[in-house]
Amino acid sequence: MTLAAIDSSVRPVPLKCGHCASLHEPLPSAICPDCFGPLEPVYRPGRRLPTQAEIARRPPSLWRYREWLPFDGEPVHSLDTGFTPLLEAPRLATRLGVARAFIKNDTVSHPTLSFKDRVVATAINAAHGLGLGTVACASTGNLAIAVAAHAARAGIPAWVLVPEDLEPAKLLAAAVHGARLVRIRGRYDDVNRLCAQLADRFAWGIVNVNLRPYYGEGSKTVAFEIAEQLGWRLPSAVVTPMAGGSLISKIAKGFGEAIDAGLVEGDRPRLFGAQASGCAPIVRALESGEDRVTPTTPNTIARSLAIGAPADGGRAIEAIRSSGGFGARVADADLIAGIRTLAETTGVFAETAGGVTCAAALALAKTGWFRPDDEVVLVVTAHGLKTPDAVPLDAFELPLLSSRLSEVARHIESA
Ligand SMILES: *Cc1c(COP(=O)(O)O)cnc(C)c1O
Ligand SMILES: [Zn+2]
Repeated sequence: MTLAAIDSSVRPVPLKCGHCASLHEPLPSAICPDCFGPLEPVYRPGRRLPTQAEIARRPPSLWRYREWLPFDGEPVHSLDTGFTPLLEAPRLATRLGVARAFIKNDTVSHPTLSFKDRVVATAINAAHGLGLGTVACASTGNLAIAVAAHAARAGIPAWVLVPEDLEPAKLLAAAVHGARLVRIRGRYDDVNRLCAQLADRFAWGIVNVNLRPYYGEGSKTVAFEIAEQLGWRLPSAVVTPMAGGSLISKIAKGFGEAIDAGLVEGDRPRLFGAQASGCAPIVRALESGEDRVTPTTPNTIARSLAIGAPADGGRAIEAIRSSGGFGARVADADLIAGIRTLAETTGVFAETAGGVTCAAALALAKTGWFRPDDEVVLVVTAHGLKTPDAVPLDAFELPLLSSRLSEVARHIESA
């Protein structure tokens, strides 16, 4: 036996087609070579699963749920991503009219302050296991930052392709890690189409294109963490922002797998998807009762969610509907107010996507989607300093005073 054959290092699991059910050795493709159906990782059904106690003894990262991540052997990169705080938010619960509210706080995700660290942590291990020496992505912003940072740390070259109108703070946070950053004239959907072509041309691991089957599984860990952090219980409702629709579909999958494994009991949470009105193809499909998404042209300041043709739109609709949940879309003015409400009631400063989530939760409460006994989790996916221009500073009173006590005291007393 060669050393390679007994190497314990990470090996991606095989893939199976969601349409024709054909099995494939691990490969960098999201599409079945036989029928163009979607490829999904296959887990060994008889594999040994850990108990709650065994999980509790593992390091606080997303790898504590490794039996549900698509690898055999040991992961080699990004070992300390995940296990972000679940914060109780009583003042927000009052606003929502529910028994309890929580923030799943991925604004402090390690190392790049968005939930995209989770999907890149799994995708970069897939790239390693498949022998791909360069990683890349098509990004609405946060993925660019995560790919650049995780690749820098691993010592792997990265190509990051973004639409031309990306926020300067996000461009900077991606560029600083030394990634090759390319702005493409057009929108995210143009960048994504281009990356599908690049995947055929170069032997790259494009994390959300040809590594997508391995990438998406990282998002399931949000569900496992929520369940564990509630003391191995399930909330009754979860509100999640949606771009391509992967995160919400994978949260549904994660809750289902936690129940199947006997880690938690009870009903699956109702799932609610949040989008900005200026790019709400999934919510509009839910509202009109369609099974498929009609692509749209984005026009919103929530650029991290601005995907007009969501790759997992159909799956998101199915996950939401079968859970008994729904969707909500919010105007840009409401998402800005949502950022402020979230900050003022919970101490969490989120980017535009978090404003969408908070505003959507408030809208869902208003239209009667929550019950007084509900326990609602808001998945808040990225930090507010990434979109510093979303809430204009002139929305706040910022007096400039001398350092004389009399002047400052007069101001305080008249406030
Ligand atoms: C990418 C992203 C999402 C949604 O991700 P999908 O899996 O594409 O639906 C949500 N929030 C933020 C901040 C993101 O960057
Ligand atoms: Zn197939």
